[in-house]
Amino acid sequence: MAKDSSTPVLDQALDRLDLADDARKMLRNPHKRIEMSVPIRRDDGTLAVFPAWRVQYNNVLGPTKGGVRFHPGVNLEETTELARWMTIKCALMDLPFGGGKGGVQVDPKELSRQELERLARSYIRELHDLMGPDTDIPAPDVNTNPRIMGWMADEYDQIARAKAPAAITGKPLPLGGSEGRVAATGQGALYVLQEWAGRQEKAPKDVTVAVQGFGNAGAYFAMLAHEAGFKIVAVSDSRGAIHAEGGFDPRPIHEEKEKGKSLDKVYSDTSVVDADGHEELDPDDLLKIDVDVLALAALQDAVTEDNVGDVQAKVILEIANGPVSPTADDALFDRGVTVLPDVLVNAGGVTVSYYEWVQGRTGDRWSEEEVRDRLKTRFEKVAPDCFERAETDGTSMRQAAYALAVERISQAIESRGDSC
Ligand code: GLU
Repeated sequence: MAKDSSTPVLDQALDRLDLADDARKMLRNPHKRIEMSVPIRRDDGTLAVFPAWRVQYNNVLGPTKGGVRFHPGVNLEETTELARWMTIKCALMDLPFGGGKGGVQVDPKELSRQELERLARSYIRELHDLMGPDTDIPAPDVNTNPRIMGWMADEYDQIARAKAPAAITGKPLPLGGSEGRVAATGQGALYVLQEWAGRQEKAPKDVTVAVQGFGNAGAYFAMLAHEAGFKIVAVSDSRGAIHAEGGFDPRPIHEEKEKGKSLDKVYSDTSVVDADGHEELDPDDLLKIDVDVLALAALQDAVTEDNVGDVQAKVILEIANGPVSPTADDALFDRGVTVLPDVLVNAGGVTVSYYEWVQGRTGDRWSEEEVRDRLKTRFEKVAPDCFERAETDGTSMRQAAYALAVERISQAIESRGDSC
């Protein structure tokens, strides 16, 4: 029997809800876990081999879907957990996808551009027979981006001797990527924040926001939230943090960051960060600021039982996957802090990946406006569903999101009959 790898929150949902036993068993066990050794030729002629995985956690609702992460700390357990979250996320958003995730244990900063390309291609060569538009569809995740997806898509096509634009999403636009994919995660997070603010009858200008993590998702969220009128009072990356109580425009900071500067360097550049009112912060102290909303857009376990006591925010917006540990999550719920969960908040990325997949299959092209409108409409349905379910059940928003997702998967399991 496969290892039972369910998380407490999934366990709670499976135990609490009135589900058929089949659903409980299937959702507690990953469907397929592929373990690979991915070789590349280094620039100096030596061979390097990297441990790598692809977990196809559950494919009841459709082909498995999820990013590939390049990180020195990634392993099979983490990849499995991330694939399980993708299963919940895709079901919650009502996408015709199951959940998957990939990982390569590598520090991409130590590779040259050519070595990185060889690694991306080698990963797809190893996985090729087990993936595709109808089986498993990779996308970007931590330390992977459209350029890497372009290499992966090209490798897939070369092996298939056919064009398969729906085999990988998050591609560059000229290779069949979708308009709006780069901003999608931040955009979706903003829709959830707007839904929360509307329910609280709060005007955006009265809502202060601190953003931990200034990569793609965090930076786009900060810029879009600023444009929508929310007051961004702090941003951080792993090296530095910038704070101004009166709020500031994060767009010039993003422009500098795009040039390769970390936030400590951006801070020392006074032509970008106006010294007036800005102060430099230790990135760890961003969590301690007294704000309405703390947006967590860095990595997993940013808030754990060790530092949950420092958090002063009234709301946590989980833009990264798993930034609040299960113990910290319980502590925040007990304290009355609202945690808007990752499976809802960051689902804009995979939702626009779905739009890219549809465009890839139909040969259609949608404008940025069309993508944004569709994304907005979807969030305007799913986010209120989650808030209402949490109210009705008297649970956290995470439990509500899991309940909606698990019920949908369970209905599909029942509908397909005795397939085993
Ligand atoms: N890596 C992103 C996530 O965790 C996007 C996955 C996708 O687009 O398939 O949701």
